[in-house]
Amino acid sequence: MHLELQSELEAAFQRVLASGSYILGPEVEAFEAEFAAYCGARYCVGVGNGLDALQLILRGYGIGAGDEVIVPANTFIATWLAVSHAGAKPVPVEPLAATFNLDPQRIAAAITPRTKAIMAVHLYGQPADMDAINAVARQHGLKVIEDAAQAHGARYKGRRAGNLGNAAGFSFYPGKNLGALGDGGAITTNDAQLADQLRALRNYGSRTKYHHELKGFNSRLDELQAALLRVKLRHLDAWNAARQQLALAYLDGLAASGLVLPVVPPWASPVWHLFVVRTARRDALQQHLAQAGIGTLVHYPIPPHLQPAYADAGFQSGDFPIAEQLHREVLSLPMYPQLAPAALQRVIAMVTVIANKVKQSMTSSAVAKMRLQ
Ligand SMILES: *Cc1c(COP(=O)(O)O)cnc(C)c1O
Repeated sequence: MHLELQSELEAAFQRVLASGSYILGPEVEAFEAEFAAYCGARYCVGVGNGLDALQLILRGYGIGAGDEVIVPANTFIATWLAVSHAGAKPVPVEPLAATFNLDPQRIAAAITPRTKAIMAVHLYGQPADMDAINAVARQHGLKVIEDAAQAHGARYKGRRAGNLGNAAGFSFYPGKNLGALGDGGAITTNDAQLADQLRALRNYGSRTKYHHELKGFNSRLDELQAALLRVKLRHLDAWNAARQQLALAYLDGLAASGLVLPVVPPWASPVWHLFVVRTARRDALQQHLAQAGIGTLVHYPIPPHLQPAYADAGFQSGDFPIAEQLHREVLSLPMYPQLAPAALQRVIAMVTVIANKVKQSMTSSAVAKMRLQ
């Protein structure tokens, strides 16, 4: 990906080097305008990383100690950590097994008088059911925050992630659909007051140099990363389109494999950050694929509520059975825009052969367990 863009990236580097301006200068300002326009949001505020983006949104809304935030039980732990670092309590809600995302029908039961917000994740690049989530939030007077760290460019009913709630946090970690060459993050929102607050919060709580209105943070997207991201943003739609082609080929090629394939609701245009299949024989499938030279990953092996980091919250194994089953069964197949169609066909052929082999050694109770509610 970066070799294809080498000359463009080097030109951006030279421009920043020569400018003498490395923090909060014209590149960050330009990237913020371009990324806001891309998402269809009014404002964008560049920050240090995706975790900070989410935490700063909560702080910008004054959400903290004594408050609760609804989070998916099935997500990368950063979603939860953002809530914890803001001083609030993450309250998990089960996903819909078919889409991996927050089940809107389960949210109301988790709301208490302390609930202030719902943090919805567009996991693996697939948008959550935002109309349903926004409807619950409206009924209970809650903010809706998108964790869009895996969903740059994804659309829900035609609208882009980053413009589907009150505010959205993005990560530009190198492996994301839009990645920097280091850490980076951003917040998009249509809320002018929040954007203004966030510009101060990311920069020591200061709007005027050496005047500090808030106990702010140092969490700024830097000029170099912003300049590199401006280059890569121009290619994002083409890369996402390539991912879409690969995903369609997977869905077609693996239809008879016996694996549980990702479901795309009619209102979703996912950007396939990951292509995730499910099987009760996940570990065997992964081992056999590794022996055949095909690398796969598990996103994620342990749900946040069972991580040692959340031992103090007192969750038990079995508290969120759908999320726990997903964590036992998911496997991410190779997916990146430069994956050649011929290589993809070899992966499909190998996955099909191995999936059949491991299925034959599967007990009937394991097959029954695969069928989620
Ligand atoms: C990557 C990621 C984050 C955190 O982003 P960083 O830039 O690594 O801090 C948050 N949420 C989700 C769902 C992610 O995938």
